[in-house]
Amino acid sequence: MGKTINTIKEKVERGEAQIFTVQQIKKMLRNEEKITIDDVDIITTATCGIMSGTSAIMHFKVSEPGKFKKAKKVYLNGVPAFPGPCPNENLGLVDIILYGTSTSTENPDYGGGFLLNDILKRKEIEVIIESTDSKTIKTSLTLDKIKTARIIGTRMAYKNYMAFINPGDEPIASIFNSIPMEGPFKGLSFSGCGELNPLQNDPKMETIKPGTPILLNGAIGMIIGEGTRSTPEKPNLMMVGDLHEMNPYYIGGFRTAAGPEIFNTIAIPIPILNKEIFTNTLVTNDIIPLPIADIRDRSIIDKTNYKTVWMGDERPSYHPQRCADCKKCLVAERCPTLAFEDTLDLEKCFGCGMCANSCPNNVFEMRTGKVTLHLNGKSIKVPVVCRQSDLKRAKKLAEELKCKIESGEFPIG
Ligand code: SF4
Ligand code: SF4
Repeated sequence: MGKTINTIKEKVERGEAQIFTVQQIKKMLRNEEKITIDDVDIITTATCGIMSGTSAIMHFKVSEPGKFKKAKKVYLNGVPAFPGPCPNENLGLVDIILYGTSTSTENPDYGGGFLLNDILKRKEIEVIIESTDSKTIKTSLTLDKIKTARIIGTRMAYKNYMAFINPGDEPIASIFNSIPMEGPFKGLSFSGCGELNPLQNDPKMETIKPGTPILLNGAIGMIIGEGTRSTPEKPNLMMVGDLHEMNPYYIGGFRTAAGPEIFNTIAIPIPILNKEIFTNTLVTNDIIPLPIADIRDRSIIDKTNYKTVWMGDERPSYHPQRCADCKKCLVAERCPTLAFEDTLDLEKCFGCGMCANSCPNNVFEMRTGKVTLHLNGKSIKVPVVCRQSDLKRAKKLAEELKCKIESGEFPIG
């Protein structure tokens, strides 16, 4: 008998549903264990990475009514936000849209992603309003004072992306690497969680649809529809979730050579309703193509696969006794999530690999793999120097989603 979403829901309620994380399924496949559609009811898939199309819509009070007419400019910890669309005339209130990619006017390393992480950590945020009647209001707030705070992602969970290298001699500053990418062929950066990604496991979006509940940075959110620039070959999703319910571990800032970016973590359940849906979830990294593009113009120059780039460690090992206290610490200067100041903060670490590729004394060690390019009859080995996605966070959220479904805290369908 075929499965329906209702029969799966009933099994969940009876505590009989067979729920697996995507990493469990991939491990079983690698171990050549036999899995059939009858063994699986739901697979929790996930991804984590830089997702530039992230905004926050917020509403909060900044003064008593009548103190200013309406906001013309709004800054939160120096990060500019867009006031409106509601003008809230003479009410002492503001509505804003904040981009996750906006940069602070005071600190080029601080932006919307870092700010949202600080808000979620309940830190005090400095607010400056410049009004249409030439007044400046200075105040501060914490998350509990922000009545409405929703994350809207306009282009999230890309099915697969590209890797980048620099074939030229001049370093190229871009959002695709933490520092200006050196060339020729000195290092490769990439994004995407490959076989864990929800859209990689449901490429025709047979179960991932508008209205599907998801975990967005730990909060129960919802898919709105396809995201901007989504195509059948390279789909992505638009989604929404309440910032109040999110976990700061899953959302934050990521410095790049072209300014601060924002990362998010998303988990989506795939109910296994039929054979085709099940078969699509059997995809593994070795068969997921990853085009390699020239960072200067995004032209494709070769291709690899996600197995090659995800070889190695998820986190660096740290050997402080080797530190030579260099005058300028390249790790502190380059770490995209500010995980290294005096010591390594593993809660902030993203597993990007930049530290291991930067420290001259091997204070950080991490295997991040190498890709072999085939160009003009020559083979060139290029080390992976910057991962812009994080398997560890993705796996953790996939596990969290599985637990929430099992405990009845997460609605299926
Ligand atoms: S670059 Fe390495 S050795 Fe130098 S201060 Fe930083 S961690 Fe220490
Ligand atoms: S891997 Fe190294 S550089 Fe990357 S986030 Fe972690 S500590 Fe920072």
